[in-house]
Amino acid sequence: MSPPANIRTWVFDLDNTLYPAPALYDEIGVRMTDYIARKLTLATAEAQELRERYFHQYGATVVGLARHHAIEAGDFLRHVHDADHSVLTPDLELRDLIAALPGQRIIYTNGGGGHAQRVLVSLGLDSLFDAVFDIESCGLAPKPQRESYDCFLAASRVEPTEAIFVEDTLRNLEPAHDLGFTTALVGPVHPEPKPAYVDHWAVDVKALLRGLLS
Ligand SMILES: [Mg+2]
Repeated sequence: MSPPANIRTWVFDLDNTLYPAPALYDEIGVRMTDYIARKLTLATAEAQELRERYFHQYGATVVGLARHHAIEAGDFLRHVHDADHSVLTPDLELRDLIAALPGQRIIYTNGGGGHAQRVLVSLGLDSLFDAVFDIESCGLAPKPQRESYDCFLAASRVEPTEAIFVEDTLRNLEPAHDLGFTTALVGPVHPEPKPAYVDHWAVDVKALLRGLLS
């Protein structure tokens, strides 16, 4: 299988798509809970409950905090993502696979606060992407809100029918497919039957790219 002939742009999610996020996210989660507890004067358990509720309700905790508690999003995002990135190491095979992709490559993530840029450096991938689009690029509208995709398309000038959208989060693929993207789900979740809005599926991003490039 060679890269689909119509694909000129490769849009990648970051966390759990280009690297396994749990190692880093355990610390980021603790930092989020501690920040919420301190700012809102809550017990740790209450802060954690709020963090998880806003994540599920809005797609990103920061959206609920900004909307309901006047927390300054940039400060929150910078603080919580200031985690120990030494748990990440460069993956040379992934770097070679991404370097071999024809066309432009863009990161589109619900993270913020410089998180994507730091992770790309830690993974040795920072020179391979043409742009990083994060939750602060578009007024805190996260995937899967349609507003986020509309803003991404307007800012990047990507033509979705000439682009592939690579994600580990199933719910983020349906709006992308509706807009005309080719979609690829990466990771262990393989819903049966496969939803019509999932065009490709692989156990991880390297398996996906190996298949598309071979
Ligand atoms: Mg992800």
